[in-house]
Amino acid sequence: MTDEAREYRATALVLRGREYGEGHRLISLFTREEGKVSAVAKGITRPRARLAAALQHFTLGEVELARGRRYDVITGMRVHNPFYGLRRSVEAFAYASYFAELFDESLEERQPHPALFDLLVDALKSLSDGHAPDLTARYVEINLIAMLGYHPHLVQCAHCGTPLATRDAEGRAQWPTWLGFSAAQGGALCPTCLPTVPGARRIAAGTVQVAQRLLAKGSEGLESLPLSDRLRREIAVTFRDYLEYRLERRLLSTRFLRDWGDADETALVAGEPATR
Ligand SMILES: [Zn+2]
Repeated sequence: MTDEAREYRATALVLRGREYGEGHRLISLFTREEGKVSAVAKGITRPRARLAAALQHFTLGEVELARGRRYDVITGMRVHNPFYGLRRSVEAFAYASYFAELFDESLEERQPHPALFDLLVDALKSLSDGHAPDLTARYVEINLIAMLGYHPHLVQCAHCGTPLATRDAEGRAQWPTWLGFSAAQGGALCPTCLPTVPGARRIAAGTVQVAQRLLAKGSEGLESLPLSDRLRREIAVTFRDYLEYRLERRLLSTRFLRDWGDADETALVAGEPATR
């Protein structure tokens, strides 16, 4: 094999790292070109190791790799964006850690997914710039789930196919106060199907409208959405459940995030209507 074939570069985000053998670290990279790549950084725990500074969590850069037998070896990293803003806020750092876990768990090794890569870069930028972490998290969760192939039903009932909103004489959408949501059915339910689907939860129509908005328009202008605290929590709980159902596991960081009131289900009082 020639040197050219053994060495390659990729645009990468550092997701996680752990001790690996003596003085080395095994780094989980999300590369735009090759998908998730686990690679070894050698001698990185030595004081003043140059690579160590470049391979901090959530750093975006151009990584140089050499193909190895078991793991590729990281030989260099040129930093494009260290997302310093994430290190200035404990809350932003916690959310970034949650995103890293979410992606690390969702991605298969060496399965390129540029759209997911761009989503994570966009989300880290948003967090680092000080935008509302919980709304950024909802943006990430809902788009991640759709990009993984589980786009939730938000226009028609996931059970019977009836449109969730009707149109008035002027063509404006008329929403019922309450709808349902079923992770197993893959989305929102009309008021008629809600009581008939086991395990369905009752949700405000606003939750569906906000989810549609997060899928359609990206992270721009999230802050200007007129959301009550209750609706924010309901969106969090609904789509976290759906994500965990699809990933078939509980996410560890979820418990950690509850310290900030994110997706705190106990705060949802049954019967109290959510208003926008
Ligand atoms: Zn229905």
